Amino acid sequence: MARKVERCSFCGREKSQTNVLIAGLDAHICDYCVNQAQTIIQEELATKTEHKFSRVNIQKPVEIRTYLDQYVIGQEEAKVVIAVAVYNHYKRIMQKPDPANDVEIEKSNIVLVGETGTGKTLLARTIAKLLKVPFCIADATVLTEAGYVGEDVESILSRLLQVADFNVAAAEKGIIFIDEIDKIARKGDNPSITRDVSGEGVQQALLKLLEGSVVNVPPQGGRKHPEQKMIQIDTKNILFIAGGAFDGIDKIIASRLRTNVIGYSYDKDLKTVDKSDIIQYISPADLKKFGLIPEIVGRMPVVSYLHPLNKETLRRILIEPKNSLVRQYIRLFEMDGIKLSFDEKVLDFIVDKSTAYKLGARGLRSILEGILTDAMYELPSSKTAKTLNVTLRYATDKFEKSGIAKLKVA
Ligand code: ADP
Repeated sequence: MARKVERCSFCGREKSQTNVLIAGLDAHICDYCVNQAQTIIQEELATKTEHKFSRVNIQKPVEIRTYLDQYVIGQEEAKVVIAVAVYNHYKRIMQKPDPANDVEIEKSNIVLVGETGTGKTLLARTIAKLLKVPFCIADATVLTEAGYVGEDVESILSRLLQVADFNVAAAEKGIIFIDEIDKIARKGDNPSITRDVSGEGVQQALLKLLEGSVVNVPPQGGRKHPEQKMIQIDTKNILFIAGGAFDGIDKIIASRLRTNVIGYSYDKDLKTVDKSDIIQYISPADLKKFGLIPEIVGRMPVVSYLHPLNKETLRRILIEPKNSLVRQYIRLFEMDGIKLSFDEKVLDFIVDKSTAYKLGARGLRSILEGILTDAMYELPSSKTAKTLNVTLRYATDKFEKSGIAKLKVA
């Protein structure tokens, strides 16, 4: 009996007419049909994404701020600045061309200055949840000038493009958060010193994106796929928010404030300067002095700041946000049928320890984890445990045995 010829169940090509014929349960598919299917899928997805990003529901600044309040404690000034910038960004991208009115609204990229762990990334992430435009976070420390080991600045756009499901029009209206922008600052305020590769070169490359230009972007990112076809992205309408700790900028601010006072009669200001929170007096000039090139500072005209977190704020962070740490652990225990509660003093204890070890808000989680690990290990297997009330004594005992207690107090 003649052997049955294997052929593609979609186009009917015989095996010999294809490069590859893949066998399924009762059918076959050839490489041509796989390719065609791939194109159909991409087109379908792009239409869906267009839909996803075209239903932009403009939120007013007050609404944006109210939303942020549910997740981020304090930092009122930064919240207002971001709410306004994002709202204006929406208005800008929704603007219809009008020959009778050719006022072009320029975008206002933002710099957020504040110690590490004060909520810069949290603000950015929270905004991302609310937004209906593509959004991504990029780390400035891994960026290098083209030709050096590390990532080209274009890789930031690759990421945005991926978030936008390769919908170029949507990506071109997106928002990019650049973390640790201070780490690419020029060392020293003297532009004539020999060019430093890690800092100024990257800033120049970044400037190209901030200024608004058409950039060739490798869709998969990186240089690992040299054969990939470049996609052109216009960065004119992309909003950039940069964040950084800018360690030592307080001295620059203080020195500027003092100079002003001596040079002009700013006596009034000096009396009201709050030395414990000097960051609130930040101005673009300070960023320049810190080592950002003037062109970058010029392209990021909105500068805001985040306050250092004091004990009261840390305590609020433990309990108040919609997904606060305490709520998260209560939920974790609840899933095992255990009702978790904390004595008030335990919350103060956690805040005190986090402050003593200079761990800030990030330390709250580690300390809670240290206190609760034993219970999280044992209680799920317990037949009798229905509640766990964490007392100060229990917390102190567990904390002393945890890894954090072995760290040196700062
Ligand atoms: P940064 O980007 O400023 O270094 P993060 O935003 O990453 O700091 O903050 C680290 C963690 O600390 C956050 O995930 C969050 O749990 C907590 N946190 C910091 N600041 C706040 C705040 N203002 N409100 C609520 N949680 C905060």
